[in-house]
Amino acid sequence: MGTFAQKFPPIPTVPSVPPYSPNSLQTPTIPLIPPKILPMLTPPYPELNDLLVMMGEAGHRLSEIEATEGAAGNLSVCLRWPIELRSRFPLVETYHLPQPVPELAGATFLVTGSGRRLREVIDEPTASIAALVVEEGGQTAKLHTAYGRRFERVTSEFNSHLAVHYDQILRSGTNFHALIHAQPPYLTYLSHVPRYQEVDYLNRHLLRWQPETIINLPEGIGFIPFKLPGSPDLMAANVESLRTHRIVIWAKHGVMARSDISVKRAADRVEYAETGAKYEYHNLTVGEIGEGLTPAEIRTICAAFNVQQNIF
Ligand SMILES: [Zn+2]
Repeated sequence: MGTFAQKFPPIPTVPSVPPYSPNSLQTPTIPLIPPKILPMLTPPYPELNDLLVMMGEAGHRLSEIEATEGAAGNLSVCLRWPIELRSRFPLVETYHLPQPVPELAGATFLVTGSGRRLREVIDEPTASIAALVVEEGGQTAKLHTAYGRRFERVTSEFNSHLAVHYDQILRSGTNFHALIHAQPPYLTYLSHVPRYQEVDYLNRHLLRWQPETIINLPEGIGFIPFKLPGSPDLMAANVESLRTHRIVIWAKHGVMARSDISVKRAADRVEYAETGAKYEYHNLTVGEIGEGLTPAEIRTICAAFNVQQNIF
């Protein structure tokens, strides 16, 4: 039998982060609406090996869809639960972070190394991935690597990754966040065509080819005009766009996609968007004879699957 408390022990608490601004923590004594369920992983948390395998599988799939030619593309995940690093990453040095992230002290980043090929991460993850643990004050991190590492520095895009992780984690309070930069050819090609540089036109055309697309990308695809790779301009525009989208095109370059669930979910988003672009490209090459799902058909799908969107 047992008491109610024995049958229903309290739900264990998960680590939380400080608020983005002090005001955002001011909740009324009696909430009028149920609090939004935070995007957050719950125990048992993935272990280091699980995360390394998933990064490898994401890199492999991105390579299969030809979104990572040569050493293009990079992956990173941020996790906020304690994780054992020394057995896989015994070398430790101090690393100066590209921006201070004091609220993320103690957080761990797994990030691909500069010049590494995403298709090879799956074979030997520690040759291509470093771990960074943010130190008190958030100016520096401990960089953990393996003896067999085949890179000198972490990816040169880490400034963009860190800025988005920081912004997303402070806004949502999530304890996990994954980011991918990849260069899928159909999306990137269409970003060279002026009419696809208009975000409404882009989304109405790319999201019309399969029912899954609007379901998986209900906010559509963000678009940033060309900016110098690695520049502060690109970093700022990227942070802004990923506040309202799960994937954003960097015009004439590639994309960045995010997920609060897994790095493979972020890779799926690249693939859904790229598939829409591939249909659109093929339709252009045959003189636009395909009609695509009509706005009414897409609205019917959204009603049936309870998808909130304002593109169609
Ligand atoms: Zn790139």
